[in-house]
Amino acid sequence: MIRFEQVSVVYDGAPGPAIRDVELTVPEGELCLLVGPSGVGKSTLLGAVSGLVPHFTGGTLRGRVTVAGRDTRTHKPRELADAVGTVGQDPLAHFVTDTVEDELAYGMESLGLAPDVMRRRVEETLDLLGLAELRDRPIASLSGGQRQRVAIGSVLTPHPRVLVLDEPTSALDPGSAEEVLAVLQRLVHDLGTTVLMAEHRLERVVQYADQVVLLPAPGEPPVSGTPAEIMAV
Ligand code: ADP
Ligand code: ADP
Repeated sequence: MIRFEQVSVVYDGAPGPAIRDVELTVPEGELCLLVGPSGVGKSTLLGAVSGLVPHFTGGTLRGRVTVAGRDTRTHKPRELADAVGTVGQDPLAHFVTDTVEDELAYGMESLGLAPDVMRRRVEETLDLLGLAELRDRPIASLSGGQRQRVAIGSVLTPHPRVLVLDEPTSALDPGSAEEVLAVLQRLVHDLGTTVLMAEHRLERVVQYADQVVLLPAPGEPPVSGTPAEIMAV
């Protein structure tokens, strides 16, 4: 579902590549965890999946990234929205409307769906994420975990096959983090969504992962394996 073939990204003016010669395959319906210290290229690798790299960040991408059969270099992020949903660390940076319901609908607006399909998808996503009671609430009045679930919901309504998350629990207390992780697990198990998630606190999330990819140091190739294999590194 996600495939990197000899992928390197070099930002303009940088002394070396942010990621180098990355080979990676994430099969459909698996949760892959991307770990490593700050600055090793986790966001760059995620951006190469969502198309933010290189379309919005500058720099040069070598090699090939395919997501759901599409080459992310020849598709702009907007053209990937029905294939890849992307959620950043700070849900506030993500929101464009005021209420939970409007936010879930917004992500579908450029897809040309019929109004009744959009309504159905909003309902289905409210239920899936446990947000039905909050539908009319201003997003500004929600807790951190609730906001992060709304951010995830807003990229789910286009029905992407792949979800990319950059440290989605890092700003959350442990209880809220659990809420978000439980939602992700449900997506993988019930809908077969493929999830690629960066995280720096491995122990919090490792139990949810099928595969762990470790970026050991800047510009070094990743090491991947099962959670048990990577915990032993
Ligand atoms: P991580 O997410 O693991 O912290 P990043 O992918 O954000 O790592 O960064 C990897 C390296 O690339 C860092 O040295 C960072 O400063 C650099 N970098 C990230 N984004 C850009 C950009 N848009 N332009 C130039 N350099 C960047
Ligand atoms: P429509 O495509 O007309 O919106 P439905 O809302 O009935 O039709 O959804 C079609 C199918 O998509 C259902 O089987 C549902 O389980 C599945 N589905 C729901 N949410 C997602 C999602 N986030 N990603 C992929 N498939 C999903």
